[in-house]
Amino acid sequence: MASGKSVILVTGGTGLVGKAIEKVVNDGEKKENEEWIFVSSKDADLKNREQTKAMFEKYKPTHVIHLAAMVGGLFKNLKYNLDFLRLNTIINDNVLNISYEMGVKKVVSCLSTCIFPDKTTYPIDETMVHNGPPHNSNFGYSYAKRMIDIQNRGYHTQHGCNFTSVIPTNVFGPYDNFNLEDGHVLPGLINKVHTAKKDNTEFVIWGTGSPRRQFIYSLDLARLFLWVLREYQEIDPIILSVGEEDEVSIKEAAELVVEAMDFKGKVVFDTEKSDGQFKKTASNAKLRKYLPDFKFTPIKQAIKETCEWFEKNPDLVRL
Ligand code: NAP
Ligand code: GDP
Repeated sequence: MASGKSVILVTGGTGLVGKAIEKVVNDGEKKENEEWIFVSSKDADLKNREQTKAMFEKYKPTHVIHLAAMVGGLFKNLKYNLDFLRLNTIINDNVLNISYEMGVKKVVSCLSTCIFPDKTTYPIDETMVHNGPPHNSNFGYSYAKRMIDIQNRGYHTQHGCNFTSVIPTNVFGPYDNFNLEDGHVLPGLINKVHTAKKDNTEFVIWGTGSPRRQFIYSLDLARLFLWVLREYQEIDPIILSVGEEDEVSIKEAAELVVEAMDFKGKVVFDTEKSDGQFKKTASNAKLRKYLPDFKFTPIKQAIKETCEWFEKNPDLVRL
């Protein structure tokens, strides 16, 4: 990053990824010339252009990490595809356009590996974002996210802006959304094991357990976000993921939660529930070209830490 004072505004700064970036910044990654500001919908509703503009005028960011979005797991996506499309399109247009108007030097926005084409070859890589329709379960979220890449290209070619994006796989960690209807699979499994243990009931895994996912720990993702903000110079997106060999089935992920929480009860599958996309195996070759030595936290340890955080922080758990 250029010398002189940097003001880094993190939209969605109170969510799963935002809280992880805040922790990494406060745990020694903050540089002397940096001021970090973490905002949520309480600071401005980013669907509202005037509120967004007023917040940008208040903080005058030189850099933006844009995380804020309507976010949810498979079951929320299945219900609200149109809302995912509309709200995220509006939020992204406001943030990117106001960043341009205010002369923000760099914006890093967040896509997701679930936006890739459903019918594809594997592993998926960064060149394939726009190759074909996304999975039907989350087409609204996917098309809104894909447009960020198009917007970044437009702001670059027409105005010379340095707006880029990252593509994380399934994220989990402290401060996740543990709500069963709305949240993603790992926080859902942790919540359900906790309840099954407390009430002495069965632990129900939704679907067949056979779909496969590459999970990334939020604190690892946060460290990678700082690298992207400071070092990554491309407009094109970069996948932030563990290796293909680290992909696990939902059943294996559930077993790690059972082990971490020392659950001894019965485990069953509700196969009436949707499996969603079978897999979205992504290549991290581009990331490895830049950062061959980056060490990911082993999934077993990361799940253990997340379960401990959940059990020790009932007041902070989003349900
Ligand atoms: P999250 O925990 O649900 O947090 C969402 C954040 O966005 C919150 O700070 C929320 O603020 C803010 N927000 C939502 N609507 C807003 C609005 N209208 N105006 C202002 N702020 C708003 O989400 P997350 O999991 O950290 O996701 C962060 C980013 O990573 C998103 O862009 C998501 O698409 C992407 N991503 C997530 C995953 C995953 O597995 N979680 C995977 C790949 C990519 P309030 O709490 O005040 O509403
Ligand atoms: P996705 O990765 O975008 O599909 O979204 P999720 O993080 O919601 O993961 C969905 C996968 O996990 C599907 O195969 C579901 O059937 C399975 N799953 C098993 N139990 C749960 C649960 O409690 N919550 C969620 N969201 N998914 C679950």
